Amino acid sequence: MEGHGRGVLRMTPEAMRRLADKATQALIDRLEGLSDSRPWDGDFREVLEDKLGTPPPEHGRSAEDVLEQALRDVLPYAARLDHPRFFGFVPSATTWPGVVAEFVAAGFNINSCTWLVSSGTSQLELVVLDWIRGWIGYPETGGGLLTSGGSAASVEALVTAREAAGHPERPAVYMSDQSHSALKRAALVAGVRRENIRLVPSDDAFRIDLARLRQCIADDRATGLQPVAVCANAGSPGTGAIDPLVPLADLCAREGIWLHVDAAYGGFALVTSEGKDLLAGIERADSVGIDAHKWFFQPYETGALMVKDVAHLEDAFAIGHDVLQDTVWGTNHPNFADRGLQLSRAPRALKMWMSVQTFGMAGFRAAVQEGLDLARRAEAHIEASPVLELMTPVSLGIVCFRVNPGDGHDERSLDEVNRNVLAEVFWDELAFFSSTSLKGVFSLRMCIENHTTTWDDVRKTLDLVERLGRAALAGK
Ligand SMILES: *Cc1c(COP(=O)(O)O)cnc(C)c1O
Repeated sequence: MEGHGRGVLRMTPEAMRRLADKATQALIDRLEGLSDSRPWDGDFREVLEDKLGTPPPEHGRSAEDVLEQALRDVLPYAARLDHPRFFGFVPSATTWPGVVAEFVAAGFNINSCTWLVSSGTSQLELVVLDWIRGWIGYPETGGGLLTSGGSAASVEALVTAREAAGHPERPAVYMSDQSHSALKRAALVAGVRRENIRLVPSDDAFRIDLARLRQCIADDRATGLQPVAVCANAGSPGTGAIDPLVPLADLCAREGIWLHVDAAYGGFALVTSEGKDLLAGIERADSVGIDAHKWFFQPYETGALMVKDVAHLEDAFAIGHDVLQDTVWGTNHPNFADRGLQLSRAPRALKMWMSVQTFGMAGFRAAVQEGLDLARRAEAHIEASPVLELMTPVSLGIVCFRVNPGDGHDERSLDEVNRNVLAEVFWDELAFFSSTSLKGVFSLRMCIENHTTTWDDVRKTLDLVERLGRAALAGK
């Protein structure tokens, strides 16, 4: 099509602008209409395959037509994780400067692998990591890297822990029965046999049971296993529970075991003084995984692994390579590829930097605080409701509750009522949330950490659950 003679894959400046303008307009329309749209859409494979399952065309067509098709047949079929009434799993709402940063970064096509190849964004990554270091409270030795998310951060943390422990033959890793599946997968990747991934029971508050952990470590040492890491939750994916970080740090220091804190969804509460208090002790962890694509309002994929002594990361991951021999710039000029899994890396720091520069930390702090406050208001609303029951104290934006008027329904019928209510909420399309199992008990679960969510959104959603709950109970 356009641009023959300058390379068939090029476009004229006018065509480029037309396409980008169309994309911009579509994104703005989407964001402006989000609150009035459904929080979820999706379809079955045969339906989508009908729309999309063609072989690659030999000849192209208008780029605007292609974009139009993507906007019609692909992109709408998704959970709208940034919808103000999307409360399922972990929501994620972006800011416009962060989105534009992604576009610009793709256009500049920067590979943030080494200082030689990308000094600007490498410097920016150092800057952003230093911000996170400050929020955690790590000393000057602290540092890390931006990752695709919490899963990659967990793998890199556990490999680093294993290497710091001297890569023992029979490693064991410890976490609570509430920990995220990503940590279990990370332990496997780090070479821990399935049976040596210890899921320590949690207490009534869904925090790891310290006495059981201590016993488990002692038993394992007695049989020749080598504990390499304890993983703590801050907060846990189910209830937002925060494991006792200070006692865990004491235990790990005494035992000489690496302490990793999984703060993937909850960690950015640290930018508020309330969150700082709640997460006190996190600065004693050897490493922390924290996702900016959750409570720091960045587009996917933006996570971080922070290590108290960043030297451990390079000890674990730096491997010389002849074809990269020119990229050794020297002391204090890190090659981020030497700190983790990826060689080719997106310049993830740009979106964080641009959005923080635009709104300031006052804006980000207020937005995170709003999530904490809305969750607490939801808690009070549930406690005052004759139909709803709070299942766990609200923690780091997570609200676990269910329909239970407390008039003698047995657990089986409550289970059924709440499953039905969840399905009805789904089909109602006002809001989206998900459920979890709290030690076998079915619980509704809302995660509130979207900077566009208002109390009206939360209240309308809880009102809907009450209404559907009453109807379901009446039908019993
Ligand atoms: C989301 C999450 C993960 C996994 O992180 P990804 O960014 O999805 O890879 C791990 N732990 C917790 C607590 C999480 O919320």
